[in-house]
Amino acid sequence: MSESRQARPARWDVVVIGLGALGSAAAMHLARRGKRVLGLERFELGHKRGASHDSSRILRHSYHTPVYVRLTQEAYADWAALERWSGEQLVTVTGGLDLFPADPAIPMDDYTASLSEVGIPFELLDVAETGRRWPQFALPDGTTGLYQERGAIVPAARTTALMQKLAVAAGAELRGSTRVLELVDRGGHVELVIGDGLDHLDQRVVADRVVVCADAWTNEVLAGLDVRLPLETTLEQATYFAPERPGSFAPHHLPLWIWMDDPSFYGFPCYGEPTVKAAQDCGGPVIDTSDPFSRTAEPDAEMLERLASFVTTLLPEAGRPVRSIRCQYTLTPDRDFVMAPVPGHESVVVGLGAAHGFKFAPTFGRILADLAESGTTSSDVSPFGMDRAALVDPSYQAHWLV
Ligand SMILES: Cc1cc2nc3c(=O)[nH]c(=O)nc-3n(C[C@H](O)[C@H](O)[C@H](O)COP(=O)(O)OP(=O)(O)OC[C@H]3O[C@@H](n4cnc5c(N)ncnc54)[C@H](O)[C@@H]3O)c2cc1C
Repeated sequence: MSESRQARPARWDVVVIGLGALGSAAAMHLARRGKRVLGLERFELGHKRGASHDSSRILRHSYHTPVYVRLTQEAYADWAALERWSGEQLVTVTGGLDLFPADPAIPMDDYTASLSEVGIPFELLDVAETGRRWPQFALPDGTTGLYQERGAIVPAARTTALMQKLAVAAGAELRGSTRVLELVDRGGHVELVIGDGLDHLDQRVVADRVVVCADAWTNEVLAGLDVRLPLETTLEQATYFAPERPGSFAPHHLPLWIWMDDPSFYGFPCYGEPTVKAAQDCGGPVIDTSDPFSRTAEPDAEMLERLASFVTTLLPEAGRPVRSIRCQYTLTPDRDFVMAPVPGHESVVVGLGAAHGFKFAPTFGRILADLAESGTTSSDVSPFGMDRAALVDPSYQAHWLV
């Protein structure tokens, strides 16, 4: 047995299960608070089978409820703290433009009322004014642009790796290729059976608290507690387009944009390379995640065609698609997060980002650390409990576009 193995505690303060963006953030926050933290990740750290890889994610204030808008204020502060701790610049402010067609499927009033209630400034732009500011857009008549100047891009894989680095620097032990096979609440402590990547039984681990950030595999991890959330996982696709004149798609020349209708699409200005990324929100098929090795990494031609036809109508000079990546969405029926202890098993805390959680990753980390430490948090997590109707009422009608 190596020296570092001998130094491992017999009982950890907190074990974090899943080291995508959310679990890495939780491990980082807990370790920085002096907790003895073990982070366990089924695949190699930084893998591409989950939801936290690739280049970029959107950070924005613009949301459909005041609770989310307030949480975005915390998110900007938490990203700023992460920048301070790491000495790295992570947030690239570009402005964000939510484009509502006439009679949109996603109600604009939800957004304007929520931003106004919290006191976040925004502008409403008609087609002429949007075209004057950003002539790259060819908008249908009657479109209204909700512009919020702090809309920003944050790096995805880079931030996840950075939070892992900060967690380790603060004393956490993070293990890749280590799968949690069983989780048992012993009342007072939690026992885990873990295996290597090949699922050979390996070791028992004991912790005071467990934080579960397993996203698409949350139910698999919680099975030992007899808990099953009504989650659906879809296999999404983001595509990079190569404009002939990338200069006019540079961050200071084009904002982030979201088409607020059904179907809903979104896109980025150039970020780190002379391409623009775009995707459909909830545009992919529902998949079975029980065998992650069967998930395809191949682009879907029909999804690509649907996206390309929309993008070239909205942004005629976006250019041709040059590559696509696949990524998972794990959705709750109301598209709201989970940030809560498991009812009846208060030692186990769950964090789930409902396919819009990356912008809140450092915030998830802080809040999950609060919940693991003391069972409470100063942030408003009241809509994100595990006993809400959307998660316990089988007749609840799923609505993913918000
Ligand atoms: C294409 C795409 C675009 C997106 N755009 C945005 C955006 O612009 N803004 C935004 O805010 N959000 C966005 N999201 C959503 C955001 O990326 C996710 O909510 C977030 O990355 C989820 O992180 P996670 O750590 O919960 O999940 P994951 O990254 O999937 O991590 C979960 C981890 O748990 C591990 N695991 C599972 N079971 C076990 C086990 N038994 N033992 C050990 N480990 C286990 C998995 O291997 C995995 O690594 C987007 C997502 C996608 C796919």
